Amino acid sequence: MRRKLIAANWKMYGSQLMTDEFLQDLADHLEGGTGEPLSYDVLICPPALYVAQAVAKLDSEESAIMVGGQNMSEHAEGAYTAELSAAMLADCGARYVLIGHSERRALYGESNELVAQKFKACASFNTGDAALTPVLCVGETIEQRRAGETEAVIADQINLVIEQTGIDAFSQAVIAYEPVWAIGTGETASPDQAQEIHALIRKLLSTHSVAVAEKIRILYGGSVKPENAKELFAQTDIDGGLVGGASLKVESFAAICKAAG
Ligand code: PEP
Repeated sequence: MRRKLIAANWKMYGSQLMTDEFLQDLADHLEGGTGEPLSYDVLICPPALYVAQAVAKLDSEESAIMVGGQNMSEHAEGAYTAELSAAMLADCGARYVLIGHSERRALYGESNELVAQKFKACASFNTGDAALTPVLCVGETIEQRRAGETEAVIADQINLVIEQTGIDAFSQAVIAYEPVWAIGTGETASPDQAQEIHALIRKLLSTHSVAVAEKIRILYGGSVKPENAKELFAQTDIDGGLVGGASLKVESFAAICKAAG
């Protein structure tokens, strides 16, 4: 039984004040101030500037909620102005990092090759206790879907990572299936459409390792809302969600989290 993971991607929204207030309110909504373990995992990915603050806030609340980054460099260190390494994120208390989000691919030219390098850098960092779990984001555009290319596009996105990193690295990784046409558009893949692709992704992984395919969590992302979360999360191969817009308001994000409980 895979434990569900509900992840918030705040993108370039927020402030110190919002971070403090949101996390306080979220802990109250989900844990009732008890710090009791939840039956699902919750991850908040704020802008990188607020990662350390979020970690400190949650530590002081003794909360089960975790913090992640939205992006990382493919390099371990060096003269790469404004970049952030896996080690830096982990040093600030991040436990996960999004890799290859569709906005990074579309707006910042991140190719499958670069995404694979980032995943590899994260996996190489993951030795011993210093763990930073990559959340590999994949998904097709509307043109690719209409052209019947969805499966091939996603297979290309994942296969290159497997080629460069090996399947074992996926035993400590998460995949987020995010159809580009559903991100920030209000349009959601139907539970059946999403389940179909999640099952394909698991099948693809199982050709390399059945154990990894069974264990890995595959999140759905693309206009997840309180109204559709329960039905999406009830699908056999959907292990939670990656939530953008609806993660910026604590009431809607908490309702989505509870749909996983
Ligand atoms: C996202 O940014 O990963 C996302 C899924 O956004 P939204 O929920 O707003 O579609």
